[in-house]
Amino acid sequence: MKSYLKNIKGIYIDNSVKNSVIAKSVIKNSNHKIFFGDFSSFQDSDFKKGFIYVLRYKGRFFRRCPGTKFYNCCGYKIIHIGEGCPLNCSYCILKAYFSHQSVKVWGNIDDLFRELEQVFADKNKRFRVGTGEFTDSLALEPLTNYSRYLITFLNNFENVVLELKSKIVDLSWTDVVKDPRKILPAWSLNAIDISKKEEILTSKIEDRLKAAKRCVDMGFRVCLHFDPIIYYPGWERGYSQVIDLIFDYLRPEHIAYMSLGSFRGMPNLFEFIEKNWPETEYIFSGEYIQGIDGKMRLFRPLRVKQFKFIIDRLKRYGLSNELYFCMESDEVWKACFGYTPKELGGLANHLIRRSFGCM
Ligand code: SF4
Repeated sequence: MKSYLKNIKGIYIDNSVKNSVIAKSVIKNSNHKIFFGDFSSFQDSDFKKGFIYVLRYKGRFFRRCPGTKFYNCCGYKIIHIGEGCPLNCSYCILKAYFSHQSVKVWGNIDDLFRELEQVFADKNKRFRVGTGEFTDSLALEPLTNYSRYLITFLNNFENVVLELKSKIVDLSWTDVVKDPRKILPAWSLNAIDISKKEEILTSKIEDRLKAAKRCVDMGFRVCLHFDPIIYYPGWERGYSQVIDLIFDYLRPEHIAYMSLGSFRGMPNLFEFIEKNWPETEYIFSGEYIQGIDGKMRLFRPLRVKQFKFIIDRLKRYGLSNELYFCMESDEVWKACFGYTPKELGGLANHLIRRSFGCM
């Protein structure tokens, strides 16, 4: 069992989904204590930290990424498979986003499939979707096999590309993929200093890159995400080192796209980190200001300086159109890339084209 899963204190399965394939996988794959019950009337404050809950979800599974109208959004669409993550990175935005600190998994995957069947029925429309917005796409895969079931379902939809975004290595789902062009394994990366200090339960950066290379060897293209980029003493050396490492394993044509996102979050995330991670050396080294969407962001001149440095280093290895910003203004795009998303035909369209391999 993966070491981070050993920290899970137990798993609760709602009676209403106890016969679902997800619950059955969890029961088969886990050696945690499992409890059954009715959690349908639970409030967020009732869910206990350190536990996984397999529940019936009653909302919409397919949704837009909660981007903001003030910045350029990438148009990513979410398949909502659960909330929270066992990897517990210090800077994780989910801690401030949800008012519970547990991990929830939606057991009623049949309802999810029914909804997706309707959404994807229009074969003339192309979709770039992912599961890695409200959780890590693969952190619970050894227990739930969620991606495995989802990919098996999506094998029937030519018009959908699925991105699996993670900070761990789990390639157990690859054998059910019919067409590797329709799946984009993706890894979030960071400077190795940051990863060692702030994402201690995740797979090593080099192991993520080795996994990316294995995927390329199987015929996949991969996505990379530098997010959150953190301004800390020695960041130039740290980000240069990881960029050099990327290209020990990958070539530009292996990368469908790569995002750059500066550390950001609502003020309560900063308070949460200060309270729960007092030992963090790196997160608060920069100067943060509140943006028009209410989120705290690195002071813009520092952001631009850091982005330009990283972009320059990535361009030396041949990346250009693969790169985009997560949630930045036209001004920052112009200052760093020399163009805005509009000149790419809109960021969402640009990324759809790239994800389907039309460059
Ligand atoms: S891997 Fe991602 S979702 Fe999971 S704790 Fe870390 S930042 Fe949060």
